[in-house]
Amino acid sequence: MTDTYLKLVNTGFTRDLSKKLGLPRPAILRRFDPAKPLVPGPVLVLGKGESADDLSQLLLSWDQDVRRHATPKEKLGAILIVLDEAAAPTDLAEPTLAAGAALRDLAPGGRVVTVSRPAAEAQDPAAAAARQGIDGTLRSIAHELRGGATANGIVLANGVRATAPSVAAALRFLLSGKSAYVSGQFITVGSDAGTLPEDWNAPLAGKVAVVTGAARGIGAAIAKVLHRDGAKVIVVDVPAAGEQLARVANEINGTALQVDITREDAAGRILAHAAERYGHLDIVIHNAGITRDKLLANMDEARWGSVIAVNIASQLRMNETLLASDIFSREGRIVSLASTSGIAGNRGQTNYAASKGGVIGMVRATAPLLAPRGGSINAVAPGFIETDMTAAIPALTRQVARRLSSLQQGGLPVDVAETISFLASDAAAGVNGQVVRVCGQNMVGA
Ligand code: NAD
Repeated sequence: MTDTYLKLVNTGFTRDLSKKLGLPRPAILRRFDPAKPLVPGPVLVLGKGESADDLSQLLLSWDQDVRRHATPKEKLGAILIVLDEAAAPTDLAEPTLAAGAALRDLAPGGRVVTVSRPAAEAQDPAAAAARQGIDGTLRSIAHELRGGATANGIVLANGVRATAPSVAAALRFLLSGKSAYVSGQFITVGSDAGTLPEDWNAPLAGKVAVVTGAARGIGAAIAKVLHRDGAKVIVVDVPAAGEQLARVANEINGTALQVDITREDAAGRILAHAAERYGHLDIVIHNAGITRDKLLANMDEARWGSVIAVNIASQLRMNETLLASDIFSREGRIVSLASTSGIAGNRGQTNYAASKGGVIGMVRATAPLLAPRGGSINAVAPGFIETDMTAAIPALTRQVARRLSSLQQGGLPVDVAETISFLASDAAAGVNGQVVRVCGQNMVGA
C-alpha cells in the first residue's frame, strides 16, 4: 500500500498548497541507510553525572560530534537528556529547559533520547515523582516534534550502569534511522547482560533465525532485515503461500519450510529443519498472525477460535518445545508480534486483542525462564503498518488511522523489522520481557 497523501504534501505545487491550507503535513521519515551518518548532525548531551560522561564517551567512540552545551543556531542531529540521577521533580528543570531551547535547532529526522531510572524502583516519593515525571515529559516532547523527529527513552533498572551493552545497543537503535517509526516509547534495560557486536552493520553474524508468516508483509520484511544483519534465515508459512515463500527464501539465500504453525508438530519440524541445515537455532520470530474482525455481539466460535489458535496458542506450544530442545541455543532470543490493539483494545477486535494481549502476558512470564540461560524474549507491538492486512481496512477508516499518530502516517514493514532485529541481537540481551511499540506514537493507547 502506498500513502498518496504523504507523497502529495512532500512534492511540487501540492506541497506549497498544503502549507497554505494548513493541512497536516507528515514528513518523509529518516530510515536506516548504512552509507549515511548515524544521526544527521552533532549530538547535544545534557545532564550531569557519571552516566552523562560515559554516554558522551560512547558517542565519541562512534565518531559522533558531541556537544555538552548548545551553540545557538547550530543544527543538531540529536539531543540526549541524561536524568538518571534525578532525585526530585525540581531536578528536571535545568536539563529539560535546555533541551527545549535547543529543539528548534533539531534537524529533520532528529532524535531526542532520555536516560532515566524506573519510578517503580525509586527509594522515596520524591525520586519516584521525578522519574515518573520524565515519562510524561518525554511523551509530550514526542507529540511536539515535527519533521519526522522522534523522542524515546532508555530506562536503566537500578544497578544497571550506562556502560551496559544493552544501553549502547538501545541508544544506537534509537538514534539511527532504524527507529524511524518508534516514538514516545521507553526501552528498559534490566541487566548488564549482552555482548557488543564486532561490526554494528552485522549484529547477527553467525546466527540462525526462523521467521513465521514470512511469505509476505511484515514477515518478509523481517526475514530480509535479519539477513541484511548477518543471520541465516529459515522462512516459514502455510503451504498455500508456498510460491511466495520460496521467492522470499531465494531473495535472501535462506531456506523455506512450509508448515502451519497451529500444527502440534510445528516447532518440532522447525527444529528438525534447523538441525539438519545449520545444526542450531538462535532466533525465533513469532510473526504469523491473522485477523477475523467482528463486533463481539456478532462474534462466532470459529472467528474467535482461529485467531487465538494462530496468534497465541501456537506460540505458547512452540516455546515449550523450543525451551526443552538442545537445538535452540541457550542464549536463544524470541521476539513475538503483539499489536497496539492488544494494549488499547480496538472496536471489532475482541478476539485479536485477546490474542495480542496474550502475547504480552506470555512474553512477560517467559522472560524469567530465559534470563538465567542468557536468552531473552520480547514483544513488538506495531500500530498501523502499510501491509495487505491493513489494505483490507475500508478506505476512509484507513486514511483516518494513518493520521492518528504523532508522525501522521502509517509505518512500513521495515520499521517493525528493524525493531525486531535490534531485540534479536546479543547486544540487546539486557532487554527482556519488554514490549516495544512501533506505532509512530499512536494517539490510541500509546
Ligand atoms: P499478513 O496477513 O500480510 O501476513 C501474515 C502471514 O502469516 C501470511 O503470509 C500468512 O500466510 C501467514 N500465516 C497466517 N496463518 C499462518 C499459520 N497458521 N501458519 C503459518 N503462517 C501463517 O500480515 P502482516 O500485516 O504482515 O502482519 C504480521 C504480524 O504483525 C501479525 O502477527 C499481525 O497480527 C501483526 N500486526 C500487524 C499490523 C499491521 O498494521 N499490519 C499491526 C499490528 C500487528
